Amino acid sequence: MKVLVPVKRVLDYNVKARVKSDQSGIDLANVKMSMNPFDEISVEQAVKMKESGAASEAIVVSIGPAKAQETIRTGLAMGMDRGIHVTTDEDLEPLAVAKILKAICDEEGPELVILGKQAIDNDYGSTGGMLAALMDWPIGSAANSMEQAGSELTVVKEVDGGLQTVKLQMPAIVTTDLRLNEPRYASLPNIMKAKKKPIDAKTPADYGVDTAPRLKTLKVTEPEARKAGIKVEDAAQLVDKLKNEAGVI
Ligand code: AMP
Repeated sequence: MKVLVPVKRVLDYNVKARVKSDQSGIDLANVKMSMNPFDEISVEQAVKMKESGAASEAIVVSIGPAKAQETIRTGLAMGMDRGIHVTTDEDLEPLAVAKILKAICDEEGPELVILGKQAIDNDYGSTGGMLAALMDWPIGSAANSMEQAGSELTVVKEVDGGLQTVKLQMPAIVTTDLRLNEPRYASLPNIMKAKKKPIDAKTPADYGVDTAPRLKTLKVTEPEARKAGIKVEDAAQLVDKLKNEAGVI
């Protein structure tokens, strides 16, 4: 069974995002970029499936600028077998990404595609669902755990205030949530080995996909700064303020 894992290069989650002065987006000049955290979880899942013998080949794909190759190398160092790099300098919208991934699925024939439930830069949370629709495959989204038996997958999904268990027939799509696993760190020998693993170089045009944007970003703004808090003298004053100032009790 082939497993395909799409990974996106995004602003590192530890870095505080700075909005550009013209409010056109986030300033990415000279800031640390890393693999989207949900995608690290997808890679870990695919590598685990390889180690258990459930998967025969695990392919990592990234659609992005030249430096996205580093993100693919990270996946290869974690244990993926080979990479596909679709080069573009645009930050593509989910539908364009999903169409490219569909073309790759048609070519590679994976039985399982594991995506992150969202990329932490744009927070679209849409690509997995769109790919499932384009492929006409079932999707287990926001997976908290997953188990495979033959061509059947059981996915426990995170839903508001609980868990939902679904069964799906492969080929299928899974999107990963934070509790699915703890991604490994690549060891130095594996980082060295990853340098020799093959990465196919492609472009969106190779897949005949029109990547023209459908959305226009009007402006990006910082969240409103939090107002300073106050210290209360005692519980009675706290109750008084909650009742008479905040109006919450
Ligand atoms: P989004 O719908 O943008 O929140 O992204 C959800 C998931 O789609 C990510 O976690 C990735 O698995 C995949 N994805 C989105 N954009 C890309 C990209 N440019 N290259 C590869 N995978 C992507």
